[in-house]
Amino acid sequence: MSDQISEERAAAYYIGGIMMVVGVLSFFSVFITGAMHFGDFSNFEERGRSEMLRAFGGMGLIVLGGIIRGIGARGLAGSGVILDPKQAREDLEPYSRMAGGMLKDTLNEADIHLGSGNVPTEEKVVVKVRCSQCGHLNSETAKFCEECGAKQ
Ligand SMILES: [Zn+2]
Repeated sequence: MSDQISEERAAAYYIGGIMMVVGVLSFFSVFITGAMHFGDFSNFEERGRSEMLRAFGGMGLIVLGGIIRGIGARGLAGSGVILDPKQAREDLEPYSRMAGGMLKDTLNEADIHLGSGNVPTEEKVVVKVRCSQCGHLNSETAKFCEECGAKQ
């Protein structure tokens, strides 16, 4: 039983997700109606109030939905809403196992990222000068050809 996420938590997860979607739609609808009524100042105050409500309501829904979604995914204790380390471990157990693969992927990605971070982004440019006598590529600073000794 404890290896399954409870129905309540699953429901909270999806409700939270839906709230976030509705919030995003509400938030962006402000820009759409704003663009549609651009330059139209009739009912300006009324529409302004409605847009403010939708913008802030949308943001509120996104934040609240995110919290509910997090609680659904990780449980009340697991998401830190209630302080109960033992319960938290139990709450997180199915989630960690499920996320284990994802986490590993993320770590691998981070590793690659860290690895590439060690590679200098600006590659050192080495300028070579070709010897006019023998064609050997000498370093830019060489006074004499490294191959035939001709003056560079
Ligand atoms: Zn040479």
